[in-house]
Amino acid sequence: MARTPARSSAAGRKTAKGRPASIADLRTKLTKARARGMPAALEDRGRRILDAWLASAETQGQPFRDIRAELASGEAARKLAAMTGEQIRANNPEQLVNAACAEGCAFCCILLEGDGGLITEAEARRMHAALAPLAGQPDGRAWNANACAALDPETRACRVYDARPTVCRSFLSVSVEACRINAEGGEEDGSGMLGNHLDYLAILALSRDVMKGTALVQTFALDQLARATVEGADLASALKAARHPTRELEETCEDIGNSPD
Ligand code: SF4
Ligand code: SF4
Repeated sequence: MARTPARSSAAGRKTAKGRPASIADLRTKLTKARARGMPAALEDRGRRILDAWLASAETQGQPFRDIRAELASGEAARKLAAMTGEQIRANNPEQLVNAACAEGCAFCCILLEGDGGLITEAEARRMHAALAPLAGQPDGRAWNANACAALDPETRACRVYDARPTVCRSFLSVSVEACRINAEGGEEDGSGMLGNHLDYLAILALSRDVMKGTALVQTFALDQLARATVEGADLASALKAARHPTRELEETCEDIGNSPD
């Protein structure tokens, strides 16, 4: 996959403030973009995936404004990580073969640190749309005070399953008991993220750098978004309640870089 983008006829045409005005401009910016905090190999992998997507969009003549919007909302990171997740699953890795996960097994939906994991704006909007009609109903906190508000307290199934964010889709474990202990503050081994979660974070961080000066690629706290939504907050209020400080994405990438795995 070429790192130096082929230039379209619109290449080099930028606004007075130097903002990208074409997909070719975005690809040029991507060659120098950084996924701050992310190890170099993961940054490079994210860049290749994102560039392939941009190249395909360019070839297909997709509207620049649509591509720009998907980068800004984090939708590009979500869907590209979903694609690499499918590729990983197709190879039936040991992590999946040995997974103990099943519907109603919800210790991983107990969110101890009041954040629940990083989600994109697109994911936050989708989750709000799915959960808002259930506002006021008993939620996961009726089962466990720290449970995600999107959880059904009776069945312990996710009430926004189709709209659940990447952080939930990527998490799995080989031991229910380890998850139970960790939900009480323990530190048992056995659970973790599927590798596509690294793609998600790298692509999101690269998207932020590519969009710098054009739009801020924001991140949000899953736990806060779910709580605000079931308590009746409209979309704008729920996003405000759940918005991360800007540094959160970089710190999450740094955590990956410092992880022994
Ligand atoms: S991650 Fe743990 S708690 Fe969650 S479904 Fe899998 S085994 Fe159950
Ligand atoms: S969104 Fe669904 S899967 Fe994710 S933590 Fe909440 S209840 Fe669990």
